Amino acid sequence: MTSDILKPNSSPLIIAGPCSAESRSQVLETGRLLAASGIKIFRAGVWKPRTRPGGFEGHGAEALKWLKEVRETFGMLTATEVGTAAHAEQAIEEGVDILWIGARTTASPFAVQEIADALRGTDYPILVKNPVCADLELWTGAIERLQNAGLSRIGMIHRGFKTYGDPIFRNSPHWEIAEAMRTRFPGMTMLCDPSHMGGSRELIAPISTRALRTGYHGLIIESHCNPAQALTDGAQQITPEALSSMLLTITAN
Ligand code: PEP
Ligand code: MN
Repeated sequence: MTSDILKPNSSPLIIAGPCSAESRSQVLETGRLLAASGIKIFRAGVWKPRTRPGGFEGHGAEALKWLKEVRETFGMLTATEVGTAAHAEQAIEEGVDILWIGARTTASPFAVQEIADALRGTDYPILVKNPVCADLELWTGAIERLQNAGLSRIGMIHRGFKTYGDPIFRNSPHWEIAEAMRTRFPGMTMLCDPSHMGGSRELIAPISTRALRTGYHGLIIESHCNPAQALTDGAQQITPEALSSMLLTITAN
């Protein structure tokens, strides 16, 4: 299974879990509920790239142990964000199955190159989120840096682009940019992140429906056992129970 982990398949690839790993109990409880509803890949950020200082920045390497427990207890695969070479090395060391590069990091060629160099020779599965700004070339360049380091198990995540004053979306979709990426990298897995795109739990279902109907290979969705208590991105997280019924609805139609 692990070698095909990001391969497009007939059923959508679903990754779900909290924005941030906040505590051992929050991680394990969310993992338990998601596993019970059939989710196979658990996401959680352990190093949180905050736009401004002062907020919760994650528990770092300590939280990787909680992800390992989710893996061992519920048989899920795990995914986390890496922003530096050291993050990538620590995540691999603790057995994280899939890495992702976040939107702020994709916008930094130095950081991406450093991560690519750290992964050279591993062929680790890695997902690349679009950069915060609507720049097709930066997104492309990040993927090329990983490919040049010999990685082949690469996927893309479309999470929308920061624009000023969008009345609906936290990050404007610009679907055409993701479409252009799919043309540039035919066959490469493309996921949609409706949580960061919409910024609110009400928008998760319509955005997910739109993405799956237009051929995206799957979704990465933020899900928290108690969204009201979330330390980051509370408004755009849904409970595992709500996620499960939403997925049933949107995949049945
Ligand atoms: C995240 O997935 O929690 C995250 C920080 O996302 P993005 O890089 O899309 O802002
Ligand atoms: Mn988040």
